[in-house]
Amino acid sequence: MEIRKDADLLKKDKDYLWHSMKPYSPDTTMMVEKAEGAWVVDQSGKRYLDAMAGLWCVNIGYGRTELAEAAYEQLKNMAYFPLTQSHRPAIELAEKLNEMLGEEYVIFFSNSGSEANETAFKIVRQYHQQKGDANRYKFISRYRGYHGNSIGALAATGQAQRKYKYEPLAPGFIHVAPPDLYRSSDEKEAKPEELQSVKDIDNVMTWELSETIAGVIMEPIITGGGILIPPDAYLAGVKEVCEKHGALLIVDEVICGFGRTGEPFGFMNYGVKPDVITMAKGITSAYLPLSATAVKKEIYEAFKGTEEYDYFRHVNTFGGNPAACALALKNLEIMETENLYSQSKSSGEYLRQGLNTALCDHPFVGDVRGKGLLVGIELVRDKKTKEPLAVELVNQVIGGCKQKGLIIGKNGATVAGYNNVLTLAPPLNISREEIHFIIQTINEEITKIT
Ligand code: PMP
Repeated sequence: MEIRKDADLLKKDKDYLWHSMKPYSPDTTMMVEKAEGAWVVDQSGKRYLDAMAGLWCVNIGYGRTELAEAAYEQLKNMAYFPLTQSHRPAIELAEKLNEMLGEEYVIFFSNSGSEANETAFKIVRQYHQQKGDANRYKFISRYRGYHGNSIGALAATGQAQRKYKYEPLAPGFIHVAPPDLYRSSDEKEAKPEELQSVKDIDNVMTWELSETIAGVIMEPIITGGGILIPPDAYLAGVKEVCEKHGALLIVDEVICGFGRTGEPFGFMNYGVKPDVITMAKGITSAYLPLSATAVKKEIYEAFKGTEEYDYFRHVNTFGGNPAACALALKNLEIMETENLYSQSKSSGEYLRQGLNTALCDHPFVGDVRGKGLLVGIELVRDKKTKEPLAVELVNQVIGGCKQKGLIIGKNGATVAGYNNVLTLAPPLNISREEIHFIIQTINEEITKIT
């Protein structure tokens, strides 16, 4: 691999580029020049195993030329036409998603996870209006959940520290607590009606007046809020409560979709059929921007009236770009032919087992949890009180790993300001040898904390 060592570029980066989520730091900013498999290479030629697959999104790994070729062929043939009309790659991708979901969803394409969720909120609100139920505008979502950066998706987000400087956000979003099995482990095998977190949603819907509730949005597994694996019965319980109150269930599969949890979609771990499913990231393994909002056919049917504006009055220029759709089809084909869903499941189990064995006696490791290749390691000051470990120490582990060539993430918000869960979401085709490197490096760095 040829790497340009251009120090000048980092100076220009400092002068011209506004980075996401952090203040500029010349010490920690990597300029990534090359990437292959699970590995990225920075401007100095140093290699890192990217155990976060970018932002939990490069599901088939870097450097797959088949994806580049699929996009190139499409761009040469027909680069763009809006989806107010139609084109082959969008039709074929919508059909493929239907097959994966079970043949009863209609697909609306956008460009990002945030947009897919905004689209879902608008569809659900209008759906109730189409049905003559015009008072239903409120959405219930969960603390610690993340649903995007736009004013509506951020309103649905349950992480106050990301929100307070941008308020007022969109009105009509109500938050409830998610189940946290690390802190209430007796709920793991409870029946849906026994779960406090399900009863909370039922009660909130009653107190807010059922007839004002449009829907619920949740990830099947909270990811950015600290990898919270719900009790097995939770999602089915939420669906039941939604049906009781006439609300729709939107499942945000932006991270959990496309094999991340060992199934094509995260909700498939829990035996429910959501009304609306939003997806992005892994749909193209992030090689090009694309997102989708899948809507049950009977919801779509309500938009077929003959009154003015019975249709969905919503458009975006780039959504369903032909090259992105053609690339997504190739990406999904690779996931299937290379058995990446089942590989995510078995590699995830192998990774968690290895981490558990290596870390279980460490005084600061409270919990290792996950599903498929979505893994969290909750670090605590004290295993009895479960008080989160100070973020400086969490950062020390992450920094130490990076020095050794391993990129991992941190999330949490157990308590506002704490980010005490180390996160791992590597490409789904990561090898056993690479998994050993992850376990060994994290173990070495956690062992250094005192
Ligand atoms: N939902 C979830 C669960 C996410 O994790 C994210 C992004 N990390 C989004 C929505 C928003 O996606 P995007 O950044 O593509 O707008």
